[in-house]
Amino acid sequence: MTITYPVKKGLYLNITNRCPCSCTFCLRQNGDSVYGSDPLWLDREPTVEEVCRDVDRHDLNQYEEIVFCGYGEPTERLDDLLKIAGYIKSKSSIKIRINTNGLADLIYGGSTAHKLEGLIDSVSVSLNASNKEDYCREVRPEFGEKSFEAMLKFTKDCTRYVPEVVMTVVDVVTSKEEQKRCREICEKTGAQFRIRPYEE
Ligand code: SF4
Repeated sequence: MTITYPVKKGLYLNITNRCPCSCTFCLRQNGDSVYGSDPLWLDREPTVEEVCRDVDRHDLNQYEEIVFCGYGEPTERLDDLLKIAGYIKSKSSIKIRINTNGLADLIYGGSTAHKLEGLIDSVSVSLNASNKEDYCREVRPEFGEKSFEAMLKFTKDCTRYVPEVVMTVVDVVTSKEEQKRCREICEKTGAQFRIRPYEE
């Protein structure tokens, strides 16, 4: 199974295939892998020890960052993710990022951003739309319309605990006008705004 895979200058970690969303643009719907990686579907979730061992196969000096991403929502395994981040922090000063849909508070039924403090250096939250109706149509979250506000709150909370917080929209699914509206919403959270290419 593919637990770690390099993408450009990052070492990406694939720790779960679970996700409470079903985005219309999800790369999982178009294939088994990204950037030429081996298939990212997991027969079972790797243990914390297996992930750490897989990380140890790599010379982290060759990378600029560790990214929790993969074929699923990394915060579905938030406690394990933080154990893995702690292990990596104990042996390296490499930057650690989470790519997330920002719905961890709904997954766990309470605020979660404070748990990232000191372990996670960067959080990238998928914004994807400027209003809850469009958001739900694109992201199709199992929690319904409350997901949009929860995602914004999580992002705002993260700016208190994480040095770098970014919100992204995918270039091919948003118009220029919508990108402008998304930027305004993003700025209210205190996060940075980024338009990202589809294959990221
Ligand atoms: S949140 Fe990410 S993993 Fe989940 S469906 Fe959307 S793009 Fe795919």
